[in-house]
Amino acid sequence: MIDLRSDTVTLPTPGMRAAMARAEVGDDVYGEDPTTRALEERAAQLLGTEAALFVPSGTMGNQIAIACHTRPGQEVVVEATSHIYNVELGTMARFSGVQPRVLWGERGVFTAEQLADALHPDLYYLSPVGLVCLENTHNAAGGRVWPLAEARRILELAHARGVPVHLDGARIFNAQVATGLPVRELVAGFDSVMFCLSKGLGCPVGSLLCGSRELIAEARRVRKALGGGMRQTGMLAAAGLYALEYHIDRLAEDHTNARLLAEGLSQLPGLQVWPPETNIVVFEIEEGPSAPELCARLRGRGVLCSPAAAGTHPRRVRMVTHLGISREDVVRTVDLVAGELRSPGE
Ligand SMILES: *Cc1c(COP(=O)(O)O)cnc(C)c1O
Repeated sequence: MIDLRSDTVTLPTPGMRAAMARAEVGDDVYGEDPTTRALEERAAQLLGTEAALFVPSGTMGNQIAIACHTRPGQEVVVEATSHIYNVELGTMARFSGVQPRVLWGERGVFTAEQLADALHPDLYYLSPVGLVCLENTHNAAGGRVWPLAEARRILELAHARGVPVHLDGARIFNAQVATGLPVRELVAGFDSVMFCLSKGLGCPVGSLLCGSRELIAEARRVRKALGGGMRQTGMLAAAGLYALEYHIDRLAEDHTNARLLAEGLSQLPGLQVWPPETNIVVFEIEEGPSAPELCARLRGRGVLCSPAAAGTHPRRVRMVTHLGISREDVVRTVDLVAGELRSPGE
């Protein structure tokens, strides 16, 4: 099977498994897991923050950040197609008692002017904005890199109004590789950043929440409250340390494969392909089967992919390249899609 559904399907490589087997471990709830501590220090160092916290998932990392930055009754500014707003089960309302204030971006990106309108005047009967969230790279926008200049304008505006800004950086290292800018520059000024080890970096489990020492101390309490206090996490942290050493630069291969895939697909009749900036290829089927239909047929041919944005666009398909996908897989996928468009289902 050629599995293009997500970069979460990556399996630990032999080198990563060996590092996991060797890991020194202890009880992390007692603060005694040396490998986890080393991972947290390494993450903080790479991102240029004071501290970092290992968390079981990206969703938990984002939600801990929201809980730390806000008070119940506040609003959190999110982009309409963001992960936090669409695929985290309304958790900000469940756990933090806050409501989203939704801004419609242009392909995932809203402007400082839009934010200025959302930061309403300080009237006692309006719920104040307690946090702004950005997403880099933007998943539903096809792995788009959030333009740094706009992010900086947003940071400046939010901070001038005393509002913190969280970055959902699930794929921030894809942004580093795509822009050539060190990750610490891409995240400078944010009040917290979450990034995933379990996406393109290829780890089985885990994300990191990075921020000030004070924020991370509080985040550790919230993680425990959510049931995310784990014990001998060193084996998972060892995979993370391995990935931060060996799996960042290789993301460039995934980006090259995504471009190759997009170029191949854009030659096919009836497809409108979004030019990929990183490892996510989205295309619309203007003529031909629906997205679920095409995905079902490709599954029969040995290619797994899914309708984009959780199926909310019936003619949009998403394919994600990752360390389990070779150039040959991409070439074969283009051939198979071409075959399905030419002679459906035969
Ligand atoms: C995957 C993802 C998350 C959440 O990570 P999980 O580990 O699946 O909970 C958050 N934000 C974005 C943009 C993602 O792609």
